[in-house]
Amino acid sequence: MSENKKYVIAIDGPAGTGKGTISRLVAKRIGFVLVKTGDMFRAITYKMVKEKIKLDEIDKIISLLDNIDLEFKYINGQQVSILDGEELNDELSIKEVQDNVSQVSVIKEVRDKVLKYEKDIAKKENIVMEGRDIGTTVFPNADVKIYLIADLEERVLRRYNQLKKQGINNISKEEVKQNFIFRDENDKNKKYGALKQAEDAVVVDNSHREIEDTVNEIINIIKEKIGEIW
Ligand code: C5P
Repeated sequence: MSENKKYVIAIDGPAGTGKGTISRLVAKRIGFVLVKTGDMFRAITYKMVKEKIKLDEIDKIISLLDNIDLEFKYINGQQVSILDGEELNDELSIKEVQDNVSQVSVIKEVRDKVLKYEKDIAKKENIVMEGRDIGTTVFPNADVKIYLIADLEERVLRRYNQLKKQGINNISKEEVKQNFIFRDENDKNKKYGALKQAEDAVVVDNSHREIEDTVNEIINIIKEKIGEIW
């Protein structure tokens, strides 16, 4: 195996299946860098919201991409989004971002922009990359592909509690549910980078079980596919 070989573990799946938490724990266990591609789309959407650009102002969105001061740093294996010199945190989960991100990510130019960030980090590090189209479009030759699923009701409850913890109280459970249903449908029907299980992906169901249990299952799949290289 070449020393320069960089590994890609792709973790895709619908919204709220636990991809974020699980990918973070898997990356930590194997010492890979975690890449959250959803945050890349969210950061661009946040900039658009900040600039008061509407979803139908496609030209403005596209020209925003040319000048955007956005970078992603990887500190202790964690991704930090820096927009206009400032670190983004809770900004990425605000309602306006939540409501618009799926439609923003339909735009081809937006996806091309994110693709550059994705390819860039993969050249430098061994990564666990979580998203929707990583195993299908971004890295069809990824070393390991996981497709994570979970029951809708459980996804809703988990996300609702997570938002509460972040102090985001203006979203009801029903709104969370409708947002998941809407985003998943929209994501599945995208012309570019649609949410789809890669043929060679391993499906992992994260419903009704401890997080650690799911993490262990994924670690075992990784070991089987690439060996215990960490
Ligand atoms: O994963 P997260 O919920 O943060 O993603 C936010 C949105 O970004 C998703 O609903 C999806 O529309 C979009 N996305 C995408 N492709 C990815 C990751 C996220 O289109 N690889």
